[in-house]
Amino acid sequence: MSSTTPARPLSITAVFPQLAPLARTATRLHPRAGSPSPHSSSIGGPLLWPAADPWPHCDGPHAPDGVPPTSLKDARLRQVTASQPWPEGPVPMLPVAQLRARDIPTLRPPADADLLQVLWCPFDHLPEPKPKTALFWRSAATITDILVAPPEPEAVHPGYVPEPCVITPEEVTEYPNPMELSGELQQQLADWAAWRAAGAVVDSYYEPAPQEFYRNELSIAPGWKSAGWTRWGLTDPIHQTCRICAAEMAPLLTIATAEWDDTTRSWTPYEGQAIADPGAAHPTRIEIAGGYDLQLYVCPTSPGHPHTALIQ
Ligand SMILES: [Zn+2]
Ligand SMILES: [Zn+2]
Repeated sequence: MSSTTPARPLSITAVFPQLAPLARTATRLHPRAGSPSPHSSSIGGPLLWPAADPWPHCDGPHAPDGVPPTSLKDARLRQVTASQPWPEGPVPMLPVAQLRARDIPTLRPPADADLLQVLWCPFDHLPEPKPKTALFWRSAATITDILVAPPEPEAVHPGYVPEPCVITPEEVTEYPNPMELSGELQQQLADWAAWRAAGAVVDSYYEPAPQEFYRNELSIAPGWKSAGWTRWGLTDPIHQTCRICAAEMAPLLTIATAEWDDTTRSWTPYEGQAIADPGAAHPTRIEIAGGYDLQLYVCPTSPGHPHTALIQ
């Protein structure tokens, strides 16, 4: 199985060569419901977790003003029948993603590691309501004795239980959100005549605001991905700087509610276009803040410096 994003409607660097130095490679993960093994890259699948390592737990505090907890079993069945009490004591974290460097060229693991495991506590945590994430970098070859039955939370936020998915990674080229560009370039992107002067063929639907064409169809891929640029929109761009060493942090992983929506439909891979099911755009069944993404950032200086997470 593979997933292929249709070619972009035009080469943006042929129209605006100033964008060429800003190109970044992202790896779209293209999750699809399945039965991943602990040895494979996956979303919501079993982890290659050493039996001797303690399983991560979260001590909170949790934000009890949000959605009432539901049982993990009901959440997995997508049938919320009754709310559960808020957890007392530490909450076992849930596997969110396991990514192997051999599958994902943009992962850039630290030396001696070739595997990333992402877990989260399936409740909101203040100040900005979002699940608390934990990252583990490992060397897959060193893990021989695998934990078979990790502890699981009894209750969860129903939107924070990923459906087990296999992934079919694909590299794509991205350019920054318009808000991250210089004022001059922003003006040019908004100037229909500049596009026409370069001979670009653009749907006249976008004539009043051609920068929307750039934003929707040429800049940033929707859905789960490694690296790339940030899909700003909930807020203006906020540079993520490491609180230990002040280095500018780099996008590591985007955990997305949707693989595409009405404005990003042109990024739907050919294989997804063939599926009539409206749920095809939501294979992981995760819902972040009513339809947004959670993007994780890491410090390029040291994997030991704390990561950050941002809802966009
Ligand atoms: Zn927690
Ligand atoms: Zn740092």
